[in-house]
Amino acid sequence: MATDPTAACAPAAGEAIDLRSDTVTAPTPDMYEAIARARLGDDGLDGDPTARELEDVTAGLLGKQAGVYFPSATMANLAAIMAQAGRQEIVLAQEDSHIYCAERGGAGLSGVFYAPLPGNDGAMDTGRLHEALAANRSKLRTAVVCLENSHNSAGGTVLPLAYMEQVAGMAHQAGAVVHLDGARLFNAATYLQVPAKAIADHCDTVAVCLSKGLSAPMGAVLVGESATMAKARALRRALGGNQRQVGIAAAAGLVAIRVMTARLGEDHASAARLSAGLRQIPALRVSMPQTNIVLVDTAGTGQAAQAWAALLRQRGVLVRPWGQSSLRCVTHRHIGLADVDKAAAIFARIAMTGPGQGG
Ligand SMILES: *Cc1c(COP(=O)(O)O)cnc(C)c1O
Repeated sequence: MATDPTAACAPAAGEAIDLRSDTVTAPTPDMYEAIARARLGDDGLDGDPTARELEDVTAGLLGKQAGVYFPSATMANLAAIMAQAGRQEIVLAQEDSHIYCAERGGAGLSGVFYAPLPGNDGAMDTGRLHEALAANRSKLRTAVVCLENSHNSAGGTVLPLAYMEQVAGMAHQAGAVVHLDGARLFNAATYLQVPAKAIADHCDTVAVCLSKGLSAPMGAVLVGESATMAKARALRRALGGNQRQVGIAAAAGLVAIRVMTARLGEDHASAARLSAGLRQIPALRVSMPQTNIVLVDTAGTGQAAQAWAALLRQRGVLVRPWGQSSLRCVTHRHIGLADVDKAAAIFARIAMTGPGQGG
């Protein structure tokens, strides 16, 4: 039994400082232990006991009636939408949201229309939301309003609880439900210093990703009312998402949800330190992170994000271009404060060499 339940499986010496995503996190020693001991069944036949436990624990934690374990948050989001929106109904989502930008291909399966709404810091403009919902009386019906908390592309920003309450009120009054893409729900809860349930309370369904900062190797859980979850479970089968001895993965998911949620503040502290370090470099414009994502605007350096990413990679720092002149840096449990300082120093060295230099 590992003594430190959140101990890193140490990356090999000399490995890069990998800030591309919190999805790169490896399972913890406790997860491997739980996997070895997991009680298993056939989840496509009569149920896997460990998957059932994960579904029940997550639903209980978030104050919902039931849960369904999915192979990915993408599939959980799609099933949530298909369970609650009919063909030719509308799903509203903030224009930079993961559901709108990265998952809209699901419309080809669902026949649901995805409509984007503008808005800052990951929050859709409530005036535009009001207009869109008012059309419910005369035009195609909006069935689902999607929120994302924390918001990935906005740089890990957190929606305030009062905003979520307002959106839920508007949606419900128009006869629509609220689905939360909570891929990083526990990062948002950590920032707000509230139990995750306080966020989930404003949503009808919530999808949580277990394989981001929570470090499980795979999987997501969707929670909501029992009747909706029964539909989602049937949709999971239709989408090819039923797995067999899936307790292998769910066992790691249980460690993720029970243990790993408690340490996300460390990732937020690393992100804050990275941001502070990078803000010392005058040519960069750097976001002030609320959670574990830092956005770096490289326009002032005369070099595009792709060029920056290549120069950083040569020096052992991995980041993701996030648009023409923006880089996304994500902290996670394999990134310590020393790594953050080293990464900031490497950014500074590249900035000093100037455009077109370095190699
Ligand atoms: C990663 C992510 C997803 C998709 O999660 P997968 O488990 O990789 O399918 C959905 N929404 C947001 C906001 C994400 O960051």
